[in-house]
Amino acid sequence: MVVKKEIKDAKNIKKENVDVDLFDYDALLKRARTQLEKINLEQERFVIPKLMSLIQGKKTILKNAAQVCKIINRDPQHLLKYFVKETGVPATNDDTKIILNGVVNSFKVNQIYQKYINEFVLCKQCKKPDTRIIIEKGVLLLKCDACGAINPVRKI
Ligand SMILES: [Zn+2]
Repeated sequence: MVVKKEIKDAKNIKKENVDVDLFDYDALLKRARTQLEKINLEQERFVIPKLMSLIQGKKTILKNAAQVCKIINRDPQHLLKYFVKETGVPATNDDTKIILNGVVNSFKVNQIYQKYINEFVLCKQCKKPDTRIIIEKGVLLLKCDACGAINPVRKI
């Protein structure tokens, strides 16, 4: 079976890397790289948090907006602006939440939030969320800490 053979081969390669001459620079480098890849694979996946919303009277409260923004490493003001643009509803925020001055159901809230994540958080290349927004020569760029990709993003 091909799959089995590949696993066997992979095992052999690993063994070779372990048994390298400690003064062979290339082999050491190769070994270090293999170990790094192993660490990366074992690293816990960063999970996109859920945005909780609640309708109170004529307002919609994004209850955990500040916490969510901390995890996804975005300015709450940035997420707030996006919600204002998408819903056409004015909004304010405080230390914990974003308050939309209008009724937006939770389905819509999640839809908007997902769009925000896709456009402003997930890397365009590797789709991982370990990214940040930087400004270079007045242009907003989404920089990925996982794969190093840099992609322009629009201003909200
Ligand atoms: Zn990436």
